[in-house]
Amino acid sequence: MPGISDIVLSPDPRLRQPCAAIDEVTPATRRLAKRMLRDMYAADGCGLAAPQVGELVQMVVIDVDYADGKKNPYVLINPQVVEASEETMTTGEGCLSFPGITVPIQRPRRVVVQAENLDGDLMQYEAEGNLLAVCLQHEIDHLAGVTMLDHLSPADRVKAIATYNDALAAGARPGDTASDME
Ligand SMILES: [Zn+2]
Repeated sequence: MPGISDIVLSPDPRLRQPCAAIDEVTPATRRLAKRMLRDMYAADGCGLAAPQVGELVQMVVIDVDYADGKKNPYVLINPQVVEASEETMTTGEGCLSFPGITVPIQRPRRVVVQAENLDGDLMQYEAEGNLLAVCLQHEIDHLAGVTMLDHLSPADRVKAIATYNDALAAGARPGDTASDME
């Protein structure tokens, strides 16, 4: 599948770096967005952050509707979580940079996110209790060098890393989830 080989896998140090803000949308910014969307769809992901393709800039792409058949991509530039609820929820999360594992992660149930789009417009996204709420937080974390495993307790993180290493050794590829490996 085209694109999948471009995805950076943990423990690549590029996944641990804070990403630079994008000052201006240039043709290179648009090309990066296009490449990230291509890679995300190729791996059947619902979100991808620029560091996952090795670019340390603040851009994420998300499409939480693709499973229903038609594409509805969002490109978020310099996204910020501006509100997060105290109420949390726990969801099984996967990550294209951690093929082969799904881990329960607790996060705020509702978030409001502001981001620019490719036209330079400031957009606001609000999501509660659904895949978009999880995906926004998961992808924005990547821009600060934070991965889903950082939300686990130290003991659970050790377990998740062991499962991940086993999955990699068994040949897991970006987009594989725990159930694909069974
Ligand atoms: Zn991820």
